[in-house]
Amino acid sequence: MDCKLCALPTDAAAWCITSCPGCELPLLLWNEHASEPSRTQRREMRDALRDYGNTHYGRGNFLIDRFPVEYPDHFHWHCRPNLNPQLVEERALAHGRQPAQDGS
Ligand SMILES: [Zn+2]
Ligand SMILES: [Zn+2]
Repeated sequence: MDCKLCALPTDAAAWCITSCPGCELPLLLWNEHASEPSRTQRREMRDALRDYGNTHYGRGNFLIDRFPVEYPDHFHWHCRPNLNPQLVEERALAHGRQPAQDGS
């Protein structure tokens, strides 16, 4: 069976951060199909994905989604923007402006 994650270009490293072929969000991809990283590797991977999220979405404004919904056989994590409406509102207030009303 073809695996979309295996089809992604990778370098020689054990894992990389790329974008998801399904939803185009940042994806931490473990390069080997049907195998799992060690505890130490997971820690490294988590730190790297956190750094990525902090740069890409703003500090703490993202979450690491470890549930392999799209590709259950291939180890990966998504980095999703944090869209909790309450948090978005709090951030807007913290920056001294009202949350957007209707976009007009
Ligand atoms: Zn695969
Ligand atoms: Zn995805």
